[in-house]
Amino acid sequence: MSKIKIGLMGGTFDPVHYGHMVTAEAARYEFQLDKVIFVPSGHPPHKAGSPVTGAEHRYFMTALAVTSNPNFEVSKVEIDRVGPSYTVDTIKYFLDQYHGEAEVYFITGVDAIREILTWRKVEDLLELCYFIAATRPGYQLWEMHQRLSVLLSHQLERIKTMEVPALAISSTDIRNRVRKGRPIKYLLPELVESYIIKNKLYL
Ligand code: NAP
Repeated sequence: MSKIKIGLMGGTFDPVHYGHMVTAEAARYEFQLDKVIFVPSGHPPHKAGSPVTGAEHRYFMTALAVTSNPNFEVSKVEIDRVGPSYTVDTIKYFLDQYHGEAEVYFITGVDAIREILTWRKVEDLLELCYFIAATRPGYQLWEMHQRLSVLLSHQLERIKTMEVPALAISSTDIRNRVRKGRPIKYLLPELVESYIIKNKLYL
C-alpha cells in the first residue's frame, strides 16, 4: 500500500495571506499531496528578540483561512507545545500520528530554508521528510545553493524549490499597511481581514 502524502505548511502566519494559500495549493497539486496541514509556529526559536502576534490570534486567522479548501487543515500542535517550536518535533509528531505510514513534505519560504543548517537536528530532519522551499519569481537561489553545498547529494535531493508568483504578497507588508491605514483587501481572505479589524491587530 502506498503511503499517504501529507504537506505541512510551516510558518509564523502573522497574518496568513493569499501568498501562503496559493503556495499550499500549488504544492498540493505539484507534489500530489493528499492534504496540506497548516502548522502556525507557537514560539519561533529564531524570533526570540522580535515581537510576534499572540499564537492564538495567528491560529484563529489560519483556521479561518483554510475553511474554503477541503484539502486544507490547520493544526495547533506547535501552539500547544511548551517551549520553542522545533520543526523536527513537529515532523516526528505527524509521523507518529500516521504510524510511519505517511510521507511528509514540509513547505515553507526559501528564506527560512536557507537557514536550515542552523535548525535543530537538521541531519535527522533530512532523513525524516522532504522540504519544499517556496520563492517569488526573480529570487536568486544561488545563495541558498551555496549555503547548502556542504550537504550530501542525497540530503540535497530532499530539498525541492517551487516558484510562486503570489508570494509577492508578504505578512510584513500587510502589517505595515494596517499600521498606515492602507488597504489590505484582496491580499488575504476576507474572514482574516475582518478578524484583524475586529481584534485591532497590527495598529
Ligand atoms: P520567516 O523568517 O518568518 O519567513 C521567512 C520567509 O518565508 C518570509 O518571506 C515569509 O513570508 C516566507 N514564508 C514563511 N512561511 C511560509 C510558507 N509556509 N509558505 C511560503 N512562504 C512562507 O519564517 P518563519 O515563518 O519564522 O519559519 C518558517 C518555518 O520554519 C516555521 O514553521 C518555523 O517553525 C520553521 N523553523 C524551524 C526552525 C527550527 O526547527 N530550529 C528554525 C527556523 C524556522 P511571510 O512573512 O509573508 O510569511
